[in-house]
Amino acid sequence: MWVDAGATRILIDAGLPLRETARRCKGAGLDVRDLTDVFLTHEHADHSHAAGILARRLGVRVHATRGTTRSLRDPPPEELRLAVRAGVPVRLDGLTVTPIALPHDAWEPVAYVVEDGATRAAVITDLGSVNRGIVRALHRLDALVLEMNHDLRMLAEGPYPWSLKQRIRSDRGHLSNEQGARLLQEILHGGLRHLVLAHLSEHNNTETHARRAAERVLEKHGTCTRLCIGSQSRALDPVLLEPSRALPLRRARQLALFAV
Ligand SMILES: [Zn+2]
Ligand SMILES: [Zn+2]
Repeated sequence: MWVDAGATRILIDAGLPLRETARRCKGAGLDVRDLTDVFLTHEHADHSHAAGILARRLGVRVHATRGTTRSLRDPPPEELRLAVRAGVPVRLDGLTVTPIALPHDAWEPVAYVVEDGATRAAVITDLGSVNRGIVRALHRLDALVLEMNHDLRMLAEGPYPWSLKQRIRSDRGHLSNEQGARLLQEILHGGLRHLVLAHLSEHNNTETHARRAAERVLEKHGTCTRLCIGSQSRALDPVLLEPSRALPLRRARQLALFAV
């Protein structure tokens, strides 16, 4: 996920190889060489694979919890590592990034809330359960990238071995469509304009299942949230976040999310 806020251009997670990252960025009109920072959610390869090479080749700073950095297979050079802590905001030029602690089977995983003073967005994937701290952190969002990993029945009847099914379903695994929908229900408000469903399993979910679960919540609340679904194989159209009308138009620039 590329987040663009004026002088600051960050990537939240870097799981694809550098070449593919650059290709998808280019397809969205972005140049990977313009990146200033990468924020990692955790050390699993589908989130951190290219962090080391992005730092070495492009001089990008890599922010991660100490637990994540310690567990990286290809860590960035020491001078480009920055430690983050859950609940402690990182202030960059025009953008504040706050890590949120998550229950997931990694060393010190986090989600991120990004805000530019006028708009707020969050990227929350790779969590097995939801707690009050997470719900509190996700208040009044303009945009949300939310994990809907699996359909419970597809997971139960699917091809994975029993132990892996247990891991995915556990409190430190991944959110099912039902759990994602419940979290959405808790934090939904009239100002949520964009919802991206993400981290869908290719074996244990379909876009239709995930979409239905989210739409049931959105329809019940009658919001006009735009819904789209992330894919492992292609980038999404950029989501441009204009400051909500309730807030003064203090900035001309916009926060933009690009799901690459
Ligand atoms: Zn993952
Ligand atoms: Zn993970």
